[in-house]
Order: sequence, then structure tokens, then C-alpha cells
Amino acid sequence: MTNDPPDPRPNLVGVPPSRIANLIEPYVDRPFRARQVGQWIIDRNATGFAEMTNLTKELRDELGRRFRIADPEILEESASGDGSVKWLLRLTDGLTIEGVSMPVDGKLTMCLSSQTGCAVGCTFCVTGALGAGRNLTPDEIVGQYRVMLRQLKAPVERVNIVFMGMGEPLLNTTHLGAALETLYERVSPKRITVSTSGVLPGITWLAGLPRRPKLAVSLNAPDQERRQRLMPIARRYRLPELMAGLRGFPLERGRRITFEYVLISDLNDQVADAQAVAQLIRGIPAKVNVIPLNEDPQYFPEHRRPDDETVNRFAATLRDAGLTVTVRWSKGLDVDAACGQLKGRHQGRGSRKSEGVVDSS
Ligand code: SAH
Ligand code: SF4
Repeated sequence: MTNDPPDPRPNLVGVPPSRIANLIEPYVDRPFRARQVGQWIIDRNATGFAEMTNLTKELRDELGRRFRIADPEILEESASGDGSVKWLLRLTDGLTIEGVSMPVDGKLTMCLSSQTGCAVGCTFCVTGALGAGRNLTPDEIVGQYRVMLRQLKAPVERVNIVFMGMGEPLLNTTHLGAALETLYERVSPKRITVSTSGVLPGITWLAGLPRRPKLAVSLNAPDQERRQRLMPIARRYRLPELMAGLRGFPLERGRRITFEYVLISDLNDQVADAQAVAQLIRGIPAKVNVIPLNEDPQYFPEHRRPDDETVNRFAATLRDAGLTVTVRWSKGLDVDAACGQLKGRHQGRGSRKSEGVVDSS
């Protein structure tokens, strides 16, 4: 399967509409036809030229010879009791990635991947344990959204997108930027969140975009020493510089920076740690997303999830300090589906596949 020669036809998925028009124009009689093709792909989520019934058969055939409309292939779709679904998707080179969809407050949040692994190597993260992967291309990023939307038949007005799947999105800014441009056609920037481990040049890039998605930063520790133990990238982009960068980050009216904080037993989960977090982010319009660790005895047996009482105490301390706090309790836990627990393949996990699998090949 994976030995097929690569398809030379450019994939129109993930190409921003203005560029689709440029590509198509030589083959159409009137410019509005090029716009129609863009609408079919972006607005109507078309999977092939045959669906474009307002074009002539000749034009559809001609476009099909020159271009393709291709999304990642669904290998596995694991549904959990809480309504979240984990998607295992195969890319054209045979690599696999994961995404998650979860119902949240009547909306649908899609957690998308940006890379096939992650070079950042945080000590509590399965994606990091896989090591560096490659950057996803714009069609692979947008394709995840298209596949989930189609399968779930979700109304697009209700979709929120978070880049909290596999990889570090701000180490893939070129492709992320192109994908965002396409996604913005359907999903407003205020419904898209990019989560970063604190890649400062990427944050600067984000700050310079004319239309910015929301920013989430994985803090995970209130001081440099512990942060760099958990997140090796913190040696490169140190906490004081990161916080200074965030203080200067341009925020649209009403927007806040989300700080994600994975709670790990006896490591960063004490009341004093919560007080230090509140102190650290004081003055920044912020909310804190507390994430009790998703344990993984195979990849990081040394890290444990704190008990619920400790989690509640931590969150309450932040609230007492005036912060808005959400605790991501267990979305998709039974399918390993919470963002940040994605590994893209079932490495040595044997029977993991069996439960809750809706569709497998
Ligand atoms: N690389 C980016 C985005 C992907 S990780 C980042 O680090 O922000 C998305 C979130 O999942 C991060 O906040 C990360 O801290 C969290 N995460 C990673 N591993 C986790 C685990 N085992 N349990 C709970 N959250 C985890
Ligand atoms: Fe990479 Fe984010 Fe996982 Fe860290 S938490 S290894 S940055 S995906």
C-alpha cells in the first residue's frame, strides 16, 4: 500500500481559496468557475470533482486529471462513553497521526495534530516519547478537520479547533499559517486555539499575523528549574523571557491567554505551586486550564496523577487568587483520547485496539 508512487497531481485541500483560483484559472472559461471550485472544497467539504455538479463534465474530468482532492485516510475511529472520538489517520507516506473530537458545552472541539511526533520531548508526554516527527503539510492539517466534520456531520458553526494534538505547532509555522488561512474561511480565528510549549520565535510570528488565533501556553511548572526538568525546551526559551514575551503579546478585546498546567503528583501540584503560578501570570489577561496527568505506565512510570482532592485544592487556590480556572477532568480518558496523550500508532500496545472501535481496517 505504502509503496505506491506518490501522486504527482497537486492536492487542492489546504490551499487557500485565492491560490486555488490561481491554480484553476488556466483551465476554466470564466473566473467565477475557479471561485466555485474553491467553494466546493472549502465550504462544502467536497471529496472529489465529480460532486461539483455546477461544472460541466468536461471541466470536472480535466480538473481531475490535473489536481486531486485528498484527505488522510481513517484507519480507526474509537468512540468513548463521554462522546469523544479518537481518530487514527494515515497519511500518504504511511505515517499515522491522531486527532480527537469532543463535545464541549453543546459545541464540538476538534483537537488537531501539527506534526507526526514531537522533538520537544516533555517527560510526561507520549508524543514527546516518540521523538521528532515531520511537519504536517497544510492539506494534512486541514484534512483532519475535513474528515472529522464529514464523519460527525457536525454543523460547522459549532466547531472549535485546538492545536493540542501531536506535535508543537509553533515549530511548523509555515504550514500552520497556510492551514489557518484556509480554516479561517469556515472557522473564525476566535474559535481556533494554538497551544505551544513556549517556542518564543513562534509566539512572535503569531503576534505578527494580521488575523490571530487564540494562544495557549503549556506552563506546567511555576519556576524555571522544574519547568526545564519537565520540558527540555524551557532551557532554550527560559521562563523569564517567555513571560516577558507573553506580556507583550497583542490580545484582541476580550481575549485572554490560556495557561495549560498538567498536574503531576508531588511534582507541581501543591498549594504553594498554585500560588506561585498566580504570582507569575499576574497582570496578564489569563485563564488556567488544569489538566490532571494522563498516566502512562509504559512511557513514564515515574509520573502519577494526583488524587482528586489535590486537583481541587490546586484549582481552588488559583480561583482564590482571582483567576478563571477550568479543570479538564477526563474527556476521552477511556480511549486515551485527551489531547496530549496521542501517539499516532499502537506501538507495542497489543490489545489496545479492541475496545470501543467503531471502524477499523
Ligand atoms: N506541543 C503543544 C501542543 C500539543 S500538547 C504543547 O505542548 O502545548 C497539548 C497539551 O497536552 C499540552 O498542554 C501538554 O502539556 C498536554 N499533555 C501532554 N502530555 C500529557 C499527559 N500525559 N497528560 C495530560 N496532559 C498532557
Ligand atoms: Fe511536544 Fe507538546 Fe508533548 Fe511537549 S507536550 S512533547 S511540546 S506535544
